[in-house]
Amino acid sequence: METPSPVPAGEASILAALMDPGRVAAVRDTGLLDTPPEESFDRLTRLAAKLTGAPVTLVSLLDSSRDFYKSAFGLGEPLNTARQLEGRSFCHYAMVSDGPLVLADVTQMAVFCDVPTVKSLGVRAYAGIPLVTAQGQVLGSFCAVDFEPRQWTETDVEVLVELAHSAMREIQLRKAVRESDALNRRLLEQLQRVDELNRALAELATTDSLTGLRNRRAFDHSLALELAIVERHHSPLSLLMLDVDHFKRINDRLGHDAGDQVLQMIGQVLSAGARVIDIVARVGGEEFAVLLPNTGAQGALEVAERVRLAVAQAPPGAHGGVTISIGAVTLQDGETASSLYARADAALYSAKEAGRNRVAQA
Ligand code: GH3
Ligand code: MG
Ligand code: MG
Repeated sequence: METPSPVPAGEASILAALMDPGRVAAVRDTGLLDTPPEESFDRLTRLAAKLTGAPVTLVSLLDSSRDFYKSAFGLGEPLNTARQLEGRSFCHYAMVSDGPLVLADVTQMAVFCDVPTVKSLGVRAYAGIPLVTAQGQVLGSFCAVDFEPRQWTETDVEVLVELAHSAMREIQLRKAVRESDALNRRLLEQLQRVDELNRALAELATTDSLTGLRNRRAFDHSLALELAIVERHHSPLSLLMLDVDHFKRINDRLGHDAGDQVLQMIGQVLSAGARVIDIVARVGGEEFAVLLPNTGAQGALEVAERVRLAVAQAPPGAHGGVTISIGAVTLQDGETASSLYARADAALYSAKEAGRNRVAQA
């Protein structure tokens, strides 16, 4: 191929280009430096060697102070294993050349004959195509090397230009995949965060913040579930409704905060006394409910008495002692949740009527 003798770039301009922070960042941003050989790049260098007849073909990435070969065809040891080279190389001249750098016999050119690889590797002919990003950053070159002088043909150069394009596409693809992986990871993290928030929200929606017990809404949900289980297994189910006696007085005498502490204490007594399967809830201001699966009337009465006593015997604290009244009911055949609830409420009312601090069954 008849090409005019290229005017080699000066040392200063090569150094400036090599060290250019934008260019170095773009090279490192490929994520390919120091990565193992990959077939998608090796296929290109192999093809380049086959089509041009050059013994060595390279995808060379130019870091600030070394050339890294993402793919190297035909390189001898130790370069084949190290896959990187320090010091001035022909790829540096390709980097600053406008388009392909085609050298038929480097020993015939004053500037190029001093490039170290002429002596160290015996490079005689070189054809390199700069690998340029869409933003105009030169990452390195796709090049062919011969150890004999060689007149590169127009087809040789065309082949190298085409394969350089393919190499560039591979580099961009690799970057896009990495970015989409990172995006996916971020998305996953955000989904996990949404999941956590949803769980926290669900807990907020079902928990009474003062006592940490279930709230009315969660209790109703549990009651419906338990009724469905009972329907299938015909197991007994009981419900206790609890109301603090003369709670207004505590509030009036000692203030709302003291009243709240009483409610917290009762919540703790109920939780401590409950079995794992029991469902304890604060269903109103100073009203609590305990659902007792697998528990008949006698068992419900015993639990109710135990709870009543535990509250009555709790350390008096600032409020000077508090008692509760309890209505206890056991599910009847075919009974609905609202009927069960209403009967428990009625039983509770009887307990109040009968003098408070007691259990009434209905
Ligand atoms: P009774 O023995 O008949 O149940 O008398 P009582 O004073 O407890 O009467 P009632 O059940 O009608 O009054 C309940 C009071 O509980 C009314 C309200 O001021 C108070 N209360 C309701 N919710 C809360 C709360 O979250 N914190 C506090 N401190 N007080 C509450
Ligand atoms: Mg009440
Ligand atoms: Mg009350």
